[in-house]
Amino acid sequence: MSVTSFDLTKIRQDFPTLKQTINDQPLTYLDSAATTHKPQCVIDATNAFYSEQNANVHRGRHTLSEQATQRYEQVRDKTAAYFGVASNEIVWTKGATEAINLVANGLKNQITSSDTVVITPLDHHANIVPWQVLTQQTGATLAVLPLNADATFDIDACCDFIALHKPKLLAISQASNTLGNITDLAPLIRCAKSVGCLVLVDGAQGALHLKSNLNTLDCDFYVFSAHKMLGPTGLGALYGRSALLNSLLPYQTGGEMIETVTLTHSTFREAPAKFESGTPNIAGVLGFGAALDYLNRLNHQDIVNHEQALLQYAAHKLLKIDGITLYSELKHNIGTLCFNYKNEHPYDLATLLDGYGVALRSGHHCTQPLMTHLGINGSLRASLAFYNNRADVDNFIFALQNCIALLD
Ligand code: PMP
Repeated sequence: MSVTSFDLTKIRQDFPTLKQTINDQPLTYLDSAATTHKPQCVIDATNAFYSEQNANVHRGRHTLSEQATQRYEQVRDKTAAYFGVASNEIVWTKGATEAINLVANGLKNQITSSDTVVITPLDHHANIVPWQVLTQQTGATLAVLPLNADATFDIDACCDFIALHKPKLLAISQASNTLGNITDLAPLIRCAKSVGCLVLVDGAQGALHLKSNLNTLDCDFYVFSAHKMLGPTGLGALYGRSALLNSLLPYQTGGEMIETVTLTHSTFREAPAKFESGTPNIAGVLGFGAALDYLNRLNHQDIVNHEQALLQYAAHKLLKIDGITLYSELKHNIGTLCFNYKNEHPYDLATLLDGYGVALRSGHHCTQPLMTHLGINGSLRASLAFYNNRADVDNFIFALQNCIALLD
């Protein structure tokens, strides 16, 4: 079904999984930060590949293979256009995690024991652990950007920190997966640039809600996962400036990434081929192409307006409940509320909420350092997407109040 304007009723009809009941209740899906649901057009595009178009890419000279290659490369072009960059700067990966690992591994011969890599206390483990391993392997220093007690950044203090440490690379998320807080990246990137520091932005959470022009953002690397942008699982991408990408060591080697192979030596192709050895996730890429088409048919500002209004509505209702502690900031937030109720274990509440058909996340959200920073073991996280409506928020608050009544 095509979407020509922001018609929420119509939009919800496009997402078949939203129509189900869970535990005899209509599904209230508030876990889009974990993965978004898929519109029918994405499912159709994936199915069409297997049922009609199936062939490998970049290999055959036969019609099906050439068509598959063309469709596959068209999605790369579409992705590049979506983010305002060039097609040869987009590398397909199996997700944001693999994209970060690709960069961390690829930089091994550029990082020495006199270098510093800076991470943040609020990033996802996927943007912490690869840098720990890289610095351990190279003898480089791992430094941590300062974070205020309330888990917001003091941008001046961060810039001072960067100016002092003159790191080789800063790895930072565009938006926190746990809190939803949006990072004020522009000044951080500016000050990183002034000391020759590369910046890798983890856009896993920001890509859908913030739709960035990466040229304007001026980061060196940007990673995202298709499954958090209405697309299939097992697919993501790395954006990197062309010269920079080509300076990285290959992450995985094998077929399709080579120029020539002898029994003792091989030469590699330029990016993106250099980083795409083996048969790729063709169906995933085609599904993601349909997801981008879907997003392109919507007006991004309409998405933002709707998500922001819903976030404020949900926060207002949540904060009316006595005993709620909210950890997210509300001014610059992609639509995620991270909270606890008194000292109740988040798993208990999440399990009870599931009985009401409410799906939200509980635990440490792959951000154990952030949990330590906040002095908690875990939290509940309700994360919104543009297909949520006020009824979702009302169901959630009604269910939460009932669950709390059971526990108190
Ligand atoms: N970074 C952030 C901020 C995330 O939210 C996630 C997924 N929760 C990842 C990285 C990893 O993404 P994936 O599991 O799709 O590789």
